[in-house]
Amino acid sequence: MNRERDEIAVVGAGLAGCLLACYLARRGYPVALYERRPDPRTGTVERGRSINLALSERGLDALRRIGLDEQVMADALPMRGRMVHPVLGEPGFQSYSVSGDRAINSISRGALNNALLEAAAKLPGVRIAFDHRLVGLDPDTARMTFETPQGAVTADARVVLGADGAGSAVRGQLLEHGLLTESVDFLDYGYKELTIPPAGGDFALDEGALHIWPRGTSMMIALPNPDRSFTCTLFWPTHGTASFASLGSKAAIERHFAQHYPDLPPLAPDLVDDYQHNPVGVLGTVRCDPWQVNGRIGLLGDAAHAIVPFYGQGANCAFEDVVELDRCLSECADDWSAALPLFQRRRQDNAEAIARMALANFVEMRDKVASPVFRTRKKIEHALERALPGRYVSQYEMVSFSTVPYAQVRRRVRRQCQVLGAVAAGVLAAAVAGVAVAFGRGRRG
Ligand code: FAD
Repeated sequence: MNRERDEIAVVGAGLAGCLLACYLARRGYPVALYERRPDPRTGTVERGRSINLALSERGLDALRRIGLDEQVMADALPMRGRMVHPVLGEPGFQSYSVSGDRAINSISRGALNNALLEAAAKLPGVRIAFDHRLVGLDPDTARMTFETPQGAVTADARVVLGADGAGSAVRGQLLEHGLLTESVDFLDYGYKELTIPPAGGDFALDEGALHIWPRGTSMMIALPNPDRSFTCTLFWPTHGTASFASLGSKAAIERHFAQHYPDLPPLAPDLVDDYQHNPVGVLGTVRCDPWQVNGRIGLLGDAAHAIVPFYGQGANCAFEDVVELDRCLSECADDWSAALPLFQRRRQDNAEAIARMALANFVEMRDKVASPVFRTRKKIEHALERALPGRYVSQYEMVSFSTVPYAQVRRRVRRQCQVLGAVAAGVLAAAVAGVAVAFGRGRRG
């Protein structure tokens, strides 16, 4: 019991929780990591929930700081741009960076989680309790109640950190005790995973790109896997005449994909089976306030600020949270009652900024990437980046290939847009004046 009272309890051995356990153990804390699931290293992946992630600079930076980047990257596949698949015609490649060599990295969420879990388990001072689902939390004493296969058990801790994802039970407990407010804005879109297996032992599509099928009201993406398959994620409204609910039969599914995603069926022999049996996941944005209570109970990662996945930043942002919390502890000499409020002050605006950018990127991905105007804008943007290196940097570049705080990225992009608007207006005015002069000359001549 004494050991427990000294422990930092991390609830949720997902991506943020495992990385956090590593960081805290390196600071010398005894850590108890509680996870509702059985040990994922011995289990199987739930159907349609494999989810591969795009890991970019923010996530990599967090891993690099504790020497885990090389191990994790050994299983990653770099994607240097988007491959846009139109309904008719050949796919077109759009590079993510002006140099063309910067990449985001496709990695299996399960493999990443297991690598982090393994790293945490090896550290002295970390104990992991699987099959422990948090169902109760006393905010005054930090006493936790867990449901386990052996029945209910209680545990104490010096500090409790909720890294238990978008549907956080820790957040739920604080809400129940009237200690925070939350809003959960569900998107009317859900997602379903489909698979493109290897073709003749090789990747069926270019493995160096993130594939996108933008279709206005729906969208599909595909990321490569080390086994040479692709995991596709189809985003579509959950209800309505054109929605997941609208395809009731095998024939309807086949017709839909033949019409809207005609290059997919020949590559995905299990398409109908995947579609009929894989679940539809929900998507939403979670906001809550405060993120901590009494400097003793805190939230981070999706538990504090889940976002929609369209910028590929949820896990990256959760990893950045861990780095920032570690920094706050250093700056506050490990005084948790100062570090947790400081952490919230530093991260909340940034979480809000990426939440908004992720929502806006959904429109860009499903509607705009295929349009000639968008492609021209990207070319102009890359030309500006080349002409003004370091002074004009695109939003995508700053979000994915830097650790510039998200809120700062938004402010800078707004300023860049204003300057661009003024330049464009100047060019337009000069052009109009030129036309007027030419017209005048024409009339006289
Ligand atoms: P989770 O990873 O959800 O981990 C929470 C953990 O807590 C789990 O292990 C869970 O079992 C456990 N838990 C839950 N409740 C309890 C309880 N009561 N008691 C004990 N344990 C509990 N992010 C990116 O960076 N790039 C991407 O490309 C990307 N793509 C995505 C695509 C999709 C379709 C989705 C849905 C998300 C995507 N994300 C992406 C977001 C990313 O998956 C999340 O942001 C990330 O997993 C958050 O990490 P977390 O540790 O906070 O939460």
